[in-house]
Amino acid sequence: SDSIETENYMRIIHIAVEMAPVAKVGGLGDVVTSLSRAVQDLGHTVEVILPKYDCLNQSSVKDLHLYQSFSWGGTEIKVWVGRVEDLTVYFLEPQNGMFGVGCVYGRNDDRRFGFFCHSALEFILQNEFSPHIIHCHDWSSAPVAWLYKEHYSQSRMASTRVVFTIHNLEFGAHYIGKAMTYCDKATTVSPTYSRDVAGHGAIAPHREKFYGILNGIDPDIWDPYTDNFIPVPYTCENVVEGKSAAKRALQQKFGLQQTDVPIVGIITRLTAQKGIHLIKHAIHRTLESNGQVVLLGSAPDHRIQGDFCRLADALHGVYHGRVKLVLTYDEPLSHLIYAGSDFIIVPSIFEPCGLTQLVAMRYGSIPIVRKTGGLYDTVFDVDNDKDRARSLGLEPNGFSFDGADSNGVDYALNRAIGAWFDARDWFHSLCKRVMEQDWSWNRPALDYIELYHAARKF
Ligand code: ADP
Repeated sequence: SDSIETENYMRIIHIAVEMAPVAKVGGLGDVVTSLSRAVQDLGHTVEVILPKYDCLNQSSVKDLHLYQSFSWGGTEIKVWVGRVEDLTVYFLEPQNGMFGVGCVYGRNDDRRFGFFCHSALEFILQNEFSPHIIHCHDWSSAPVAWLYKEHYSQSRMASTRVVFTIHNLEFGAHYIGKAMTYCDKATTVSPTYSRDVAGHGAIAPHREKFYGILNGIDPDIWDPYTDNFIPVPYTCENVVEGKSAAKRALQQKFGLQQTDVPIVGIITRLTAQKGIHLIKHAIHRTLESNGQVVLLGSAPDHRIQGDFCRLADALHGVYHGRVKLVLTYDEPLSHLIYAGSDFIIVPSIFEPCGLTQLVAMRYGSIPIVRKTGGLYDTVFDVDNDKDRARSLGLEPNGFSFDGADSNGVDYALNRAIGAWFDARDWFHSLCKRVMEQDWSWNRPALDYIELYHAARKF
């Protein structure tokens, strides 16, 4: 934009292994896209370098064409360029077939992503892109931080600074530790998670350059007014009408009884982090309280997947017409569940930020969460967190619980379902209220830009 002063202008290149919706596995993919778009909207140039997976969702790439090809690391690397959600994306395709293995994760990842990181830096150097900032993410592109310092910090791109974001410290902590040493600035995805991990061996020595910046969601990508996967477009003005149409569509799709009961939705990777025992308990508790449940989830661990398949069979039998477990990854279906549910429950054991509760609120669904990490920073209990919310200029927006046992779940879920049955007007005003709250990148994108500037002053 014209308003931006030239000395403040920055070119930022993300090097990442996930990007929604072309190669999304979890929240990292959403964040790469939505943070980039928000910073680009503020007048900076933001580009992304991604592996060219054979499993890329190519229908979401516009104008994809061959950009160049170069030799590096004993192979030829084809570089494709295209537009994803209005961002320029370079796709690296090493001709040794490294990214033609049918998946993002799960095949010799350390070696493949290490190669990707180094070749991405080489591509930036050879093209003299000279970005002000290279931004890398999690263990998978952590090598960028030290490869830059070892091989490129004396090069033509010597003025580039490296920013590193930790989306989840659970995986590859030794990579993360090393990247923390070499990066110029580091972030994680919520203030509370940044405090939760501050004592971790990978973080503690580097706390002076480590910041917690809350993730946002992209209000254009998640918008019940323009969403093609729901029956009636809605805003906070017609939220009751829009959500009841979505609820009917959801019930119809899964053969659920079209009765006047609350629906609790669950959209998640099924891993220990997400509180599997609490998820199971919430399903049973909701059904015992005359609610309906729709779960969309997939488990990377086949034992957990099998366990949930058996649970699905059992529940579909006992509670026929009142519960549906869909054990796969399905983006369009997730939209209908966000819109058609009254509540979205997120009982994570730990949660760096969590996006599902933010998307839920954008669709007027009330979050029920465990008080941890980013869930604590974004969900304020209607009974217990009034003061904490108001000190941040917000009104309470959901239900939450401490502890990691069934009592905690019951405490939040019983109040939520009780309010739905006994105080419907109040519940509807709560739906409207959560839709009006701003969980976009408006604020956090400014924090990132400030951080990028601070990295350059180093
Ligand atoms: P994580 O990154 O730990 O998986 P987040 O809450 O940060 O958790 O992000 C999860 C993202 O993935 C959200 O956009 C959510 O809607 C989406 N998601 C999770 N599971 C599924 C699924 N089975 N089908 C479709 N989308 C899913």
